[in-house]
Amino acid sequence: MATLRAQSQPGDSDSPDPASPSGAARELRNYRLDRRIGQDELAIIYRATHLTLDRPVLVSVLRRTDWVSSSRFQLAARLAAHLTHPNLLPVIDAGHDDHIGHYLVTPYLDTRSLQDVLANGALDPVQALRIATQLASVLDYLHAQNVVHRDVQPANILITLQGTVYLTNLSLAASPDTPDLSSIDDTDYRTPYTAPEQTLRTGQPTPASDLYSLGAVIYHMLSGDPPPPTGAPPSLALRDEALAAADRVIQRLMAAQPSHRYSSAGQAIAALRQALRPQIDAATVDMEESRWEPIAEWLENPLETVLGSMIDADFVTRSRIRADTLHRVDAVRRLLDRWSRQSWMRRRELGHVIEPEQIISYNLYFYELRVAYETRTMPQSRFSVHRGGALAPAHEAGVWDAPVPDVPPFETHGPETLVIPGSQRVVGCPECSAAGRIPCRTCSGSGTVMRTRKVKEPDGSARIEQFTEECPTCRGYAREECENCEGTGQLLEEKVFDWSRHARAYFNEDDLSGLHKPTLQAKALRVFEGPISLREGHWYQVAPLKEMIEEAQRYCKEDTRIIAAELTIRGVPVTEVDYRFRGQPRTLAFIGFDNTLRGDSTLYDVERLTLYAIILIMAIILVAILILR
Ligand SMILES: [Zn+2]
Ligand SMILES: [Zn+2]
Repeated sequence: MATLRAQSQPGDSDSPDPASPSGAARELRNYRLDRRIGQDELAIIYRATHLTLDRPVLVSVLRRTDWVSSSRFQLAARLAAHLTHPNLLPVIDAGHDDHIGHYLVTPYLDTRSLQDVLANGALDPVQALRIATQLASVLDYLHAQNVVHRDVQPANILITLQGTVYLTNLSLAASPDTPDLSSIDDTDYRTPYTAPEQTLRTGQPTPASDLYSLGAVIYHMLSGDPPPPTGAPPSLALRDEALAAADRVIQRLMAAQPSHRYSSAGQAIAALRQALRPQIDAATVDMEESRWEPIAEWLENPLETVLGSMIDADFVTRSRIRADTLHRVDAVRRLLDRWSRQSWMRRRELGHVIEPEQIISYNLYFYELRVAYETRTMPQSRFSVHRGGALAPAHEAGVWDAPVPDVPPFETHGPETLVIPGSQRVVGCPECSAAGRIPCRTCSGSGTVMRTRKVKEPDGSARIEQFTEECPTCRGYAREECENCEGTGQLLEEKVFDWSRHARAYFNEDDLSGLHKPTLQAKALRVFEGPISLREGHWYQVAPLKEMIEEAQRYCKEDTRIIAAELTIRGVPVTEVDYRFRGQPRTLAFIGFDNTLRGDSTLYDVERLTLYAIILIMAIILVAILILR
C-alpha cells in the first residue's frame, strides 16, 4: 500500500479538494469518489464506492508529479498487487487516468493508525504482543519474498476495531525491482524507528533493519515513548520490573550490530511471548501459559481476530481450553504414551521415543458460501396490436426496479419474460405508416388484375387474349387491411426482459499445511451459519473468505447480480507437534476435540509389524510344503 499514512487527519476530513473546486462527487473509471478523507506524503485519499459491486473502497491519488514520487507510488502499487498476506492491505485496482493521474484502490476498512493509538500512552503488554505478532508475521512474509520494508513505524501501521493489523506504505521498500532511490536524502526519511545502518543509497538492504524497527515499535508500545533518535533506549525495567524479560528481547532486536539481532521476526516474537507469559496469564481466563511447555504456542486464526464475536463462542472457548491442556508440561508425552498402549501395532512409549521441538495449537476453518444470482437481460421492445385509445403517461422503471415474482432467492427460476412497468407506448404501425391499410399485394394497388384466356378462332386456330378484371382480393378498392396492426394503424410497444435466478456454492478453507484433510473435515464443527451481506467490509479481511467472495463476484456479468448470500463456517482444533525421530524432522497432529492422532509411519511399530509379517509368510510356506508332500 503506497499510502494511507495518517488516513484521517484531524481537521482535514471536510476540506475541499484542490483538484475539484466544486467538491462534488467525481467518477474515476468504475469508482465514485465520495469524500476526501485525508492525505499523506504522496497521495490524497478518498472514500469511494465501487460502482458495479456497490462496495466501499479507498482511492489514493498521487498528488505529486516529480519522478521519485511517481516511481515510489507505482512501486508500492506493484509490490502490494503481487503480495498476499492477511496483514497487508490488498490492492483491488491500480492504474493511470488521464484526468486524475496515478491511482490505487484498496478496501475501505474502519481503522486507526498505531500512531493515533499511542497518543494515549503505553499499551497493555498483551495488546502490544498481539500487534507485534501480526507485524512479525507480515515482516517474515515480506523478507521471504525478498522485500525489505524500510519504513516500519507507527504511522504506517493500521489497526481495525477487531484488532487486525495492517502494515502499509511500501513506497520505500527495497525489492528486486525497486527504482533507484539514491537521489533521496536519507535524513528526510530517518525516523526514531529507523535502524542506524539503514540507507536508501545503494547497498544491500537486509531484513535486520526491519527487525530493528520492529523492536523500536514494540519499545514504543510498551513504554509509551518513541525510542531516542540515537543510542540504546532506556531499560523498560526501570518503569516496570515485570517488563525486564521483555526488555532483553527489545535490546537484542535494537542491537547496534545487525548480526546481533534475531534471525527472523517470528523468532523475536516467540521470545517476547515467552517473556510476557505472566502478563498473558493474568489477561486470559482460559489459558495459563506460564504452566506450558516453553516450546508450546497458541496461534489465533485471523478469522477469530476479525470476526471473533460472530463465531460460536463455545467452540472458541473449548478449543482454547483444549490447547491449554495439551500445552501443559508433559501433557503431549502422556497423551502419546496412552495412544501407544491402545494397540499392539503402535510404537511403544511413543511419548518417550520422540523429542518434541515445537507444539502449536490453532483452529482451522472450512468455508462454504451459497450465492443466489439473478439475471435481468437488456430490455428489448415487443410490439402488439393496440385497440384501446391513448395511454396515461407513466414513468418507465429501470430494469432492476421492475417487480419480479416473489419467490425465495435461492430457488432456480426462469428464464421468464417480464414487462417493465410504465414502458408501454403507442406507436404508429411502420408497415402501413399508421394508415391501417397497405396497397393490395395481389394487384399492386391498381384494383385490377390482368388475366389471359385462350380464344378459339373460327378457322380453328387459337390465340391468347389479355383482359383486365376486378382484383379478387381487394374487390377493386386497391388497398387491403395491414396484418401487422390488424387495420388499427397503431401498435403497442412495451419493454420486456428475461428474468432468471439460480444459486451456486463456493468452497474454501484455511491453509491446511499438509494435514490429513478428510480427518479435519470429519472432525469440523459448525461455528457460523447464516445470511451475510457482501457489502460489509469485515468479510474481506479474512483471506480465504475474501478469495471465495471475489470468485463469486467474478461470476456476475453485466446483467447478473448477487441478490443473497449465505455463509457456513466449520472449525476444527489442531495441535501440531514438530519432533525429531532418529535425527529426521517430522510432524504429527492431534485433530479435533477427541485428539485423533495423524502422523507418518514413525507412529507405528514398523519393526514388530515386519517381524510378524515374516513369521506369517514363513508359516504359510511351511503349511504349503506340508500339504504338497
Ligand atoms: Zn399497419
Ligand atoms: Zn387488390
